[in-house]
This record gives sequence, C-alpha cells and structure tokens, in this order.
Amino acid sequence: MATSSLSILGTSSKPTSTPIHEPDLPNPSTALLLNKNGSPKSPHQKPTTTIIFISLLLITCIALSASIAFAFLFFSSSSQAPKIPLQSTIRPLQKLQQPVVILISSDGFRFGYQFKTQTPNIHRLISNGTEAEMGLIPVFPTLTFPNHYSIATGLYPAFHGIINNYFTDPITGERFSMQSKEPKWWLGQPLWETVVNHGFKAATYFWPGSEVNKGSWNCPSKYCRHYNGSVPFEERVDTVLGYFDLPSNEIPVFMTLYFEDPDHQGHAVGPDDPQITEAVARIDSMIGRLIQGLEKRGVFEDVTIIMVGDHGMVGTCDRKLIFLDDLAPWIEIPKNWVQSYSPLLAIRPPAGYSPSDVVAKMMEGLTSGKVEKGTNLRVFLKEDLPERLHYAASERIPPIIGLVEEGFKVEQTRSKKPECGGAHGYDNAFFSMRTIFIGHGPQFARGRKVPSFENVQIYNMITSILKIQGAPNNGSSSFANSILLPS
Ligand SMILES: [Zn+2]
Repeated sequence: MATSSLSILGTSSKPTSTPIHEPDLPNPSTALLLNKNGSPKSPHQKPTTTIIFISLLLITCIALSASIAFAFLFFSSSSQAPKIPLQSTIRPLQKLQQPVVILISSDGFRFGYQFKTQTPNIHRLISNGTEAEMGLIPVFPTLTFPNHYSIATGLYPAFHGIINNYFTDPITGERFSMQSKEPKWWLGQPLWETVVNHGFKAATYFWPGSEVNKGSWNCPSKYCRHYNGSVPFEERVDTVLGYFDLPSNEIPVFMTLYFEDPDHQGHAVGPDDPQITEAVARIDSMIGRLIQGLEKRGVFEDVTIIMVGDHGMVGTCDRKLIFLDDLAPWIEIPKNWVQSYSPLLAIRPPAGYSPSDVVAKMMEGLTSGKVEKGTNLRVFLKEDLPERLHYAASERIPPIIGLVEEGFKVEQTRSKKPECGGAHGYDNAFFSMRTIFIGHGPQFARGRKVPSFENVQIYNMITSILKIQGAPNNGSSSFANSILLPS
C-alpha cells in the first residue's frame, strides 16, 4: 500500500511560539551618543564629565527597562504557549493487566464545535491529553461510512472498498447500501479483526463495518451490537463501562462507542443552530458519564480514550444549487447515469459513451457562463482528480467525479423542496469538513497539541498502543509513533 505523503504531516508537538519578535527599540548606545541628523540636541564639541555621567545613567536606565520588557514579554508569552509535556515516556498501568483503547466517534462533530458551549468533559480530555490543534482531516469523500471505515482500517476508501455510503458494483451490478453486511464489500482489516486475530477480545458498540464477519471476527453477541439508532446514549456508555467489570482476561482491549449526534442535527438545521449547541452539550455529558464510570472503577488513567468525529458540516442555504438538466444544450445526463449527486457527484455513463467526452462536454457547459452557478462545479475523470484525494484506484469508483465548492449542491431538476440545512461529503481540504482528534491515556502526553493529520493514521496509533502487529495500510507507523509517548 502506498504510504501517505501528506506535506502537512508533522512529527512533533506544535512549536512553542517563540518569545515573539524583538521590540523595535533603538539601540540605546547609538541612539543617544550619535545623531546622524545632527539634531540640535547634541551640538556639544567638548562633552563635560557631567554630560558623560548623565549619558551613562540614561543608558543604564534604558538598558534596564529594555531587559525588564524582554523578561516580561518572554514570560507572558511562555505562559500562553502550549504546555510542554512533563513526562517523556509512557505512564505505567496501575490496575489493568494490558492496555485498553476506547475509540469514540461523535458523528459530524465539526472541528470548533467544542467551543460552542461549556464542554468541561471534552476539555478535560484535551487538557490532559493530546489534541490535533486544528482538527482531524477526514478522507475524501467526507462521508460517514467511508470515513469510519478508514479510521478502522487505516486505508483510503479506494483501498477499503467503501467508496461512498451507497454505490453499485460495476462488475456484478449489485448495490451497496449502509445496510450491506456481506464481507465482499468490506476490504482491508478493521481494528476489531486485527485485535481478535491476536487472541484478544474486541467489542463494538456500533461502527460501520463492525457487524461484518471478517477473519476471526464474527460479531459475537456478547461483544458486538447490531446497529439500532434508538438505543439511548446512556445505555451505550454503561455497556462499555460494564466490560470493565468482567474478569481481566475477558475485558476487551479495544472497544468502539458511536453517537449519531451532532450529525443528525447538523443535516437538519446546519452547523450554526442552537440545536447543535444542545447536541454538543449532550455529547459532552456522555463523555462525562464515561469518565466518571472509569474513575469509579479505578481505571480512568489506565484506559486510552481516543475521541474523534468522521467529518465536519457546512450550511447549504442561499440556493447554492447546480442542476444537471441545465447542461442539456451541451450533453444530456440521464438520472440513471448518476450514482450520487451531492456533494459527491459520481457518474458512470453506459458502455458506448466515452467518459472523457462526457467530461469535456459537461465542462464546456459549466464554464460557458450560461449555466447558473456552473463555475462552482468541476468535473474530472477520476484519474485526473487531485492526487491528494486518493480517489481513483478502485473499479467501484465511477469514472466521472464532480467536485463542488463548499456549501453547493448538485441536483437533477429544479424543484421546490427546502434547501436549507447542512451537508458534508465535500473536498477534505475544506476546513469545515474537519473534525476532532483527542487522545487521552498512558501513551498520550498531557496538554500536547499536534498539527492536523488524516484519519488513516489512527489505525497504526491503536495497534501501537495495543502492542500488536497491524495489517498493511495507508498510514505511516513512524507518524503514529511520533504522536505517542515512547514505551
Ligand atoms: Zn457522519
């Protein structure tokens, strides 16, 4: 598998902001003694002892003031800089026999939501753990199933096979949907399979792909929940906590915990509605419930909690719409060519049509100035997409992919349906698509901030914490280890 070559990947904590730029003070020794402009203040031909004494006194005073100012600026900036981790190696386990990782997903938790309201529990994890300071970068397309499965496998969608929330296999004509559980769709090796392959227990309280039988993982009823969105969040948290009451050799070393919020609200009302604030507060209270339960059992400091989202959210108001029917003067795009519309436009023309001709005609129309909002959609042959999207190397990806500008949507026909709400699925370069990454536990430095990274790095991070050999993937082991404290 290709190794990610993100230029934005960093390998160390955010550099401490250096004690700012030097103040623009004139050099006192030259400013006082020399005056190039021949100012009337220094007309003396024969400086007396008194003048020399006063000058020296002034120089001393200015030098002292400058050093005090420097000291003040240095210490005040130091106190604002990210905390330097005090410990440099992994903290030993106090109670558990082996490392345990709880991987939590809060669906659609856009980066920045953590500041919508008081989130004391999330901030407790942040301040005592390691955070992607400017958020976690989802994979493209920034959709729920592709991203959750990238987090679980360390693979880009082209390699793990879940290239969209729904798609058609071009060879068999079979359709994948979010209810599809046949192993043939789900490629790669998800964490729960890696864990049980090593003889450990894994438990999933919902995660896309977790109900699929793969390798030695058969979704055992004791440890694997079948998706049911109506299960109260409290029950999910309490079930995960209950695993810590099992005999030590039965405690799963890897657990997932999934919450549908705030994605659910984000789609309905967009990212800026008070409903999002409420949903974020509720997620925070679930994190609080988990922390308290772990503390009660004396294992909070032993357990590794990794809290992430799958993608962000952006508002889709203001009629930012592009209609495929408007392209008819250049090329007709029938509905049955289109596998998905928005934000990921995916088109597979039938045999006999040249995809590159279709792209050329669509682009001619979109750039003609005659298609409403047309310049906000760019259509590519998949192999011509920017390489950073890693969205070509699978037969399942249709040959023609359209990228829309942030907040825009593609539809077939004009309609009167309401357009205001929120969406995701856009280019993962959009900041609004970013989500959160917080790691808290024995191998995460306290108070550390790291630069943004892609979620395919998480698989290696977890296998490293669990000290098991992971399957080949698109993440980099050296990057994952640079986020973790050495053992
Ligand atoms: Zn989602």
